[in-house]
Amino acid sequence: MICDDLELRLYDEDCRRALLGTAPMPEDVADHVAGCSACRKTWAEAARDTVRLTRDLQLAPPPSLVRRAAAVALQPPARPLLGWYDLGVAVTAGAVLVVVATLVPGADPLWQSAAFWTGAAGGFAASVIDRSLLLPSLGLRS
Ligand SMILES: [Zn+2]
Repeated sequence: MICDDLELRLYDEDCRRALLGTAPMPEDVADHVAGCSACRKTWAEAARDTVRLTRDLQLAPPPSLVRRAAAVALQPPARPLLGWYDLGVAVTAGAVLVVVATLVPGADPLWQSAAFWTGAAGGFAASVIDRSLLLPSLGLRS
């Protein structure tokens, strides 16, 4: 190990544990630090900073946030993940695309069938995604 290696080794997990005092100093680091006063000083500073940062960054969340998070987590879902609502949206979206497909000149029944299933799949996916992903990400419940 050379002195430049120590700067990089400080970020390795085994060194992080050693800096926190929860594990012994890795052997390669210990060998180098024993014979290099500059790296011994670097190690001591890193240990001091690591302990201080770890201690100072342990912030408790605000009590109001804890209460709101607990209240939201304990609420039963307003609707099941999948339900009749999603089926209704799927059929409606499929029907709309069938109507659109009939307006296209030369569209045969195969196109209408494809339009229905495309619309139904899109409507179903949009309904589920809207409720499952979008609303919770906005902090809203369906
Ligand atoms: Zn060194």
